[in-house]
Order: sequence, then C-alpha cells, then structure tokens
Amino acid sequence: RAKAQGKGSYQVFDTQMRDQIVAASRLERDLRHALEREQLEVYYQPIVSLVTQETIGFEALVRWNHPQRGIVSAAEFVPIAEETGLSILMDWWVLKEACTQMKRWQQQYPERSNLTISVNLSGKQIIQPNLVEYISQILADTDLNPQCLTLEITETAIIEKPELAINTLGKLKELGIRLSLDDFGTGYSSLSYLQRFPVNSLKIDRSFVNRMDVDSDSLEIVRAMILLGKTLGMTVVAEGIETPAQLNLLQQMDSNHGQGYYFAKPLPESESTNWLKLK
Ligand code: C2E
Ligand code: MG
Ligand code: MG
Ligand code: MG
Repeated sequence: RAKAQGKGSYQVFDTQMRDQIVAASRLERDLRHALEREQLEVYYQPIVSLVTQETIGFEALVRWNHPQRGIVSAAEFVPIAEETGLSILMDWWVLKEACTQMKRWQQQYPERSNLTISVNLSGKQIIQPNLVEYISQILADTDLNPQCLTLEITETAIIEKPELAINTLGKLKELGIRLSLDDFGTGYSSLSYLQRFPVNSLKIDRSFVNRMDVDSDSLEIVRAMILLGKTLGMTVVAEGIETPAQLNLLQQMDSNHGQGYYFAKPLPESESTNWLKLK
C-alpha cells in the first residue's frame, strides 16, 4: 500500500513538473512575441536622498504590457527571460529606452542635470563579449553623460565567471559609469569579492529592510551592512522602504539613499515626469 501511495505521489509530482514546463515554454514564446511587438515598457521608481528627501534618480524596471493579463511585473518574467537568453535583447532595449528618457528629463529640467538612471543587468549580459562597446554606443547615441548611468548587478551574476566580470566592470568604471551591487545580502556574499568588485554603491535587499522595524536581527544586519558599505567608501541605498518607522531607522543609521513604496512605486513614464515636477 505504501508503495502504491509512493507511486501516486510521484505521478502528482510529474504532473506538476509538466505543467510548470508547459507554462514556462508558453511564457517564453509569448515573451519573444512581446519583444517583437513592442509590448514591453519601462517603469521608473524614484531613488531618494534620505538626508534631503530629494529625488536623486530613478531605477528603470521593465514591465510587460500583456494584451490579456495587463501589466506584468518583472519578478514574474525576468527569471524566464534570463534562463532562455531573451534577457540579452530585453536588457539592451531597456538600457537604450532608459538612457533616452533620462536625457529627455535632463533637457526638460536643466537644473536637474545630476539625475541618474539605474538599469539592471542580468548575469548573461555581464559576460557578453561586446558589452563595453555596446554600452558606450548607447551612451553616444543617447548623448547621456556616463556619470548619470548606474548599472545594477548582483553577486550571483558575477560569481559564475568572477575574473571576467571583474575585468568588464573595471572597463565600465573607466568609462565613468557607476556600478551598484543589487540585492546585497541575499547572494553568495563573500567579503573578499566585495573588496574586489569596483562598485560605487550597495543596495541593501528589501527582505532585510522589510523586517527591520519588527525583527531586531534584521535591524542589526542592516546596521552592519550600512557600516560595511560606508567603510568601503560606497554609497548605501536601502531598497523596499514601506513605512515611516523603517525610514526613521535608516536615517538614524545614516543610509545615504532609499527607494520603496513609502516614497513611490515604480511609475510609468508620464507619472515619473509628474513626480519630477514636484520633487
Ligand atoms: P530589483 O532590481 O532588486 O528591483 C527592485 C524590485 O523591488 C522591483 O520589483 C520593485 O518594484 C520592487 N520594490 C521596490 N520598492 C518596493 C517596496 O517598497 N515593496 C515591495 N514589496 N517591492 C518593492 P520588479 O520591478 O518586479 O523587479 C524584480 C526584479 O527583476 C528586479 O529586482 C531585477 O532583479 C529584475 N529586473 C527588473 N527590470 C529588469 C531589467 O530591465 N533587466 C533585468 N535583467 N532585470 C530586471
Ligand atoms: Mg535593481
Ligand atoms: Mg534589489
Ligand atoms: Mg532583485
């Protein structure tokens, strides 16, 4: 009897796996079409100085404007895009779009010419042989000051080919581009790597920020991460600030910048422009 049950549960497992695979390949096919049919859109989430509360820039976050499902968030399809290699095309598109938009904002609001745009790069992207040339080309085409572009990378993306990645990051930095380590604390964090990555800023993952006002361990971890980043001469950005309590704690601990629903959700282009008029 136990055997029969065991077999049954394998069947359930197989069915679930098959459903997942079918769903994933459907998503892949749809995503390919989305790229071709221009169903992707870039949203912009304000990044705010925790000292002055001024908006210092935006993070570009891709969205899929799906004909049936409406706006689909990056968390739902970026992992598939990365697995299938579609993220390479997608990231180039997002980068070009985001740099173009930032240039437009700087022209529209000349007094805000220090605004920066942060763009996420997938692990696949970092090991592209023509990455540096391609990014220089986009900067030239859009006429954006390289100092106004921040590329966000994760430790997990670097860890597969650390030597190659560190080399590439060094070249990007020479161009004047700023680099930021995203989701800090969740990846394969190694302090010796942290020292070798030529990054300008650290983004503390929102899973820590989220809990810091209710969980003292998270609070102490955030405190230690801020101290570590600042000691290494980096700018610290706290992700996922949702409450005034979290904001107060981060300000007390001297985090430089912050981002989160407390300030604003990622906004479509027109709403981001309105946001800039006010902040
Ligand atoms: P990420 O780069 O760490 O981006 C932050 C994510 O946290 C975004 O989710 C953002 O909407 C969400 N977020 C920001 N503030 C809050 C908050 O206060 N509360 C909560 N609950 N969430 C908040 P999103 O846009 O779904 O993106 C998920 C991930 O997908 C990103 O994480 C990034 O790793 C990836 N991603 C997004 N756009 C791109 C892209 O253009 N290219 C690549 N390669 N990856 C991207
Ligand atoms: Mg990011
Ligand atoms: Mg993050
Ligand atoms: Mg992430």
